[in-house]
Amino acid sequence: MQLSIDLTGRNVLVTGTSTAARQAVRRYEAAGAVVHRLASPGSVQSVELPEQLFLVAAVEDGQPGWAPLLDRCREAGIPVAAEPAAGPAGHVTLVGGGPGTSDLLTVAALKVLRDADVVFYDRLAPYQELPLLTSAELVDVGKKPGHHKVSQSDIEKLMVESALAGNNVVRLKGGDPYVFGRGGEEVAACVAAGIKVQVVSGVTSAISVPAAAGIPVTHREVSHMFTVVSGHAPLTEKEHHHLAGLGGTIVVLMGIGTLHQLAAGLRRAGMRPDMPMAVVERGYRPGQRTTIADLGTITAAAAGCSNPAVLVIGEVVRVAEANRQHAGAADLDRLAASLLGS
Ligand code: SAH
Repeated sequence: MQLSIDLTGRNVLVTGTSTAARQAVRRYEAAGAVVHRLASPGSVQSVELPEQLFLVAAVEDGQPGWAPLLDRCREAGIPVAAEPAAGPAGHVTLVGGGPGTSDLLTVAALKVLRDADVVFYDRLAPYQELPLLTSAELVDVGKKPGHHKVSQSDIEKLMVESALAGNNVVRLKGGDPYVFGRGGEEVAACVAAGIKVQVVSGVTSAISVPAAAGIPVTHREVSHMFTVVSGHAPLTEKEHHHLAGLGGTIVVLMGIGTLHQLAAGLRRAGMRPDMPMAVVERGYRPGQRTTIADLGTITAAAAGCSNPAVLVIGEVVRVAEANRQHAGAADLDRLAASLLGS
């Protein structure tokens, strides 16, 4: 968490070992303070306090012996703020960032972000709010100068090197790390390098983005299963047949580029051309848009749609109309209009 106070030009003394105090130092520096450091209480009696000291940030580093100095400061009228010590260093946490708004970050995600030294994020995660949530160094691995994506193996290398250098590393990913997020590979890379790694689950776009448009992925007596499919590459004919035969809701991520093949494949596999279908673009973000059509008309209806988008195929799309209150009015007006027209 960042400090919400402007300390520009103020002298702040941060006490505590450099490991325990590293995050407090960053927080106070980010708030504009002139940070003075005292790492050990060894010689507190003889310590000369900086002139015009505004505040002492006393990091709870577990060392005995700080009390006389802190008492001296209090007696001199200088406020003393207790600061939590930074957690143990040198590990990696994969964090699911949800579909792109910080409102859908978990409590656990907020906690590990606050304790992080470095955050490697990509652009499906709620990255714009990060400076408010952490004082960690922020590294965009979704794009780098020249707009080339950092390769997966480079991301893994960066994470491992940073953890080996003693940092608390957070890898912030969109949605849930284990849903088409290559989270498993990143965990394996840490394990192979002997680095402690944990995973904080996130709210996946597979469920939350349809919900943003008022579409429940299951609904009593309408659909009692949902299948989440990657549309990154076209499906095989066999897969089209399996999907068409399931009878539940089909949710497709990364499916804009293969939308045409999917719709045609499902029709060849016997799915009704009037099966309702939705494309929800930019869920929870400015410009969220829902396009409703059916299997037979979706290719034309979604011609202007772009990533990121979630496709939903199934009768639950019709239920959305009953859920008007859950989504934005513009979205639902569009939805209602298309359902009436279909
Ligand atoms: N791990 C992520 C998915 C990564 S694959 C998760 O659990 O959500 C990336 C795909 O997720 C995008 O191509 C898109 O299909 C979907 N997606 C993620 N965020 C989205 C959003 N805010 N709106 C629409 N689709 C989104």
